[in-house]
Amino acid sequence: MNYHRFKLPKAYCPNCSRKVELLFSEESAELPQFYICFKCKKVGQFGVGELATNDFLAFSTDRKQEIQELVEEIPDKYVYKANGSQLRLEEKTDTYKRRWLSLYEYEKAFGETLGFEAIDFREDNRLCKWCNHALEGRRRSFCSDRCSRNYGKATFFKRGMSTLPHRIASRDRFYCRVTGEDLAVTNRFGVRIPASDHQVEIHHLVFVSAGGSDHESNLLTVSKQVHKDYHMGVAYAVNAIEEIKKQQLVHYQEKMYTAKENS
Ligand SMILES: [Zn+2]
Ligand SMILES: [Zn+2]
Repeated sequence: MNYHRFKLPKAYCPNCSRKVELLFSEESAELPQFYICFKCKKVGQFGVGELATNDFLAFSTDRKQEIQELVEEIPDKYVYKANGSQLRLEEKTDTYKRRWLSLYEYEKAFGETLGFEAIDFREDNRLCKWCNHALEGRRRSFCSDRCSRNYGKATFFKRGMSTLPHRIASRDRFYCRVTGEDLAVTNRFGVRIPASDHQVEIHHLVFVSAGGSDHESNLLTVSKQVHKDYHMGVAYAVNAIEEIKKQQLVHYQEKMYTAKENS
């Protein structure tokens, strides 16, 4: 059952009139035939019409299981040292390099999504997230477009942080978990903004080199200083972090260590 992908002069998208890609079986007209528009991100089936998105719920439990297993056979772009590890194989040098898992990789590795997305530091959500003035009418976040823009600028690209560590800092509300030091940016209105003041670091309780995973249970927001002190063996930092690690291991050991080695 060979499907072929091609374009034809008369095959246009019914939405945007751009050329669509066609997907037809080589052998049989009985098999379903599709068109795909990469601009509208739509897929249509001939004789049926546009396919609904996120229609996974429509399947029976058994079929869902089958599909999930099949999907897991899609090869990974990277070879990881182990499932859930941020160590990925560098082909040129044949060594493992550290890089935070993307949210997609996180989901794939742990079978769960990482939350902590919409962080909101406000204690009173009737106030503007940027300037702290009262919101009017239907406004829920910002009193003006200008405030929204300024907030966007301040948090743009998460100020040099990757998404995963930014989410962990958000979970910890940008406070150092050892000293409670405030690690968020405070703007000229005195409002805390979920962006790093460049003192935020994320520590792996179980070290990456010791098989520690990127699962959130293994990650801790600390200040640069505390992080340095910990790794230099300064007592206050070591004691505090080892205590947290002990607590976390009681509940999350399995997630904190990367699973089966991918040799
Ligand atoms: Zn405002
Ligand atoms: Zn560390």
